[in-house]
Amino acid sequence: MIANYHTHTWRCKHASGTERTYVEQAIAAGLKILGFSDHTPYPFPDGHVSGFRMAPEQAEDYFATISGLKQEYAGQIEIHIGVEAEYYPAHFDALLEFLSAYPCEYLLLGQHFTNDETDGVYAGWATDEEAVLARYVDQVLAGMATGRFTYVAHPDLVNWQGSRQVYEGHMTRLCKGAAELGVPLELNFLGLREGRCYPDRDFWRIAGETGNRAVLGCDAHQPESLNCSRTEAAARALAAEFGVPVLETVPLAKPF
Ligand SMILES: [Zn+2]
Ligand SMILES: [Zn+2]
Repeated sequence: MIANYHTHTWRCKHASGTERTYVEQAIAAGLKILGFSDHTPYPFPDGHVSGFRMAPEQAEDYFATISGLKQEYAGQIEIHIGVEAEYYPAHFDALLEFLSAYPCEYLLLGQHFTNDETDGVYAGWATDEEAVLARYVDQVLAGMATGRFTYVAHPDLVNWQGSRQVYEGHMTRLCKGAAELGVPLELNFLGLREGRCYPDRDFWRIAGETGNRAVLGCDAHQPESLNCSRTEAAARALAAEFGVPVLETVPLAKPF
């Protein structure tokens, strides 16, 4: 593994370690490219304070700190600065406007909620309501169609407990859309490490059948998570089983 674009920082309130420790760990693990993609600050008009992302006031420090490390470590490792963001239709334009003031190089699409976190459903909650699954897929499709996202983080995050035939139908829509738009899908190491509902085997079979490409993503919330050879082997085996090519690096889609 030479690149990981999915790395968090302490600002999201559920990750730990200094940015420098992540960089040092990445170098020790043999990565050539390290992308930071912490949970984006989201400027909600009603002042909603999110419990799992950095505050808008922290953006300055986030981009400045990592820009400093990018320069300091140039020649040892290529560092990129992005964010992981949901596609919240009502607030997405405001998000782009907000981020455009900073040296933000890329966005990962991590759709943690349907609608948005003030009036929607957390995608990680177990559900057998088809409307939730359909809405999740609709939003991922709409997010990809903006052309702003470099790839989809944990595309199979939605915790579906209902009929597999229903899952097949909606995830085929998602995968066909991703393949048509040429947006890669992430095999998420956090889900693999913790035995979460993702990566979902049916999802990756469908991804293979519909001609998708995978990206490996550590989704590191601790520096040690960049040391991931066992998880990497499991992820590569899954991709190989379903004939999904793994992209070792990805071109960063311009967010603005
Ligand atoms: Zn997180
Ligand atoms: Zn993440």
